[in-house]
Amino acid sequence: MADRALKIIPSVKSENWQEILSDLITDPKELLHILRLDINKKPVSLSAISQFSLKVPRPFVEAMQQGNWSDPLLLQIWPSEEEEINLNEYTSDPLHEVEFNPVKGLLHKYQARVLLTAAPHCAIHCRYCFRRHFDYKSNTPSREDWSNSLDYIKADPSIQEVILSGGDPLAISDRQLLWLIQELESISHLKILRIHSRVPIVLPQRITPELVAILNESRFEVVIVVHCNHSQEISDNVKTAIEALRLSKITLLNQSVILAGINDEPGILKELSHTLFSLSILPYYLHLPDKVIGTSHFSVTSDKAIRVINSLRKELPGYLVPILVQEEPGASSKTRLV
Ligand code: SF4
Repeated sequence: MADRALKIIPSVKSENWQEILSDLITDPKELLHILRLDINKKPVSLSAISQFSLKVPRPFVEAMQQGNWSDPLLLQIWPSEEEEINLNEYTSDPLHEVEFNPVKGLLHKYQARVLLTAAPHCAIHCRYCFRRHFDYKSNTPSREDWSNSLDYIKADPSIQEVILSGGDPLAISDRQLLWLIQELESISHLKILRIHSRVPIVLPQRITPELVAILNESRFEVVIVVHCNHSQEISDNVKTAIEALRLSKITLLNQSVILAGINDEPGILKELSHTLFSLSILPYYLHLPDKVIGTSHFSVTSDKAIRVINSLRKELPGYLVPILVQEEPGASSKTRLV
């Protein structure tokens, strides 16, 4: 590991990320007690919880406002009764990912890159998640499955980039991550390692000097695409974690989802872009929510999303305006909407 990195990189080490991960809030009553909210005002959906549990790290809850049912962070993780609304066009696999799953744990949708479901779990459960019904159980690779995935990548020299996704790839241990990165590094045609993770935002304690050193030491160009939807998510601990990544050679991008009642206003996204840029993170994608069962209350029409982006364009330089995209099943890339 890099001594240099260990010396210069700040960290949020006062709390152990694994302890936080093993002590997530999963009980709605406990969450509401902390936030001083009355469950009778907005009942929890037990059927929603049974399908996709409540899961939220305590540091993320600390960034929520007490006594506010409309808090934009709370709305992202609260299993409300609106999840029981059933609309025809909403399905459990809106992107037909199962059709692009040639090997357990590997998705090959786009040219030159593959996605590995490196972790079968996340540090948080975002209620709008398009993978909330994904069959992680059947896609949690054993060592033998990993070997099949690695063989698949080795056999296709057109693949240059591996995307670690999940679940959340930074929810696994350093030892597992290092093993996987080293296996990938042995495949000479791979050039870029991209990590899609919400962990730097919701569990910044995970960005330890040891993790940064693993990424810094890699022969790959490393890109981390964080997932932040609202500037309120950026606590002081998040700033410190991002600073540690920024001081290394890692390229930092952000992707957000435009969510009704949470961030579907130009002013909110403008502030998010400014806050991200102050941390050297470029806004990359703004996704329209996918039509996955249980998420219709987050839906924003494409017309409204386009209006929001056009408004951002008037007020921000181009590099601070994210690209508005939608994923369509079978498409060879994301579809740009504007
Ligand atoms: S962290 Fe990402 S994969 Fe996990 S629930 Fe949230 S959106 Fe889904």
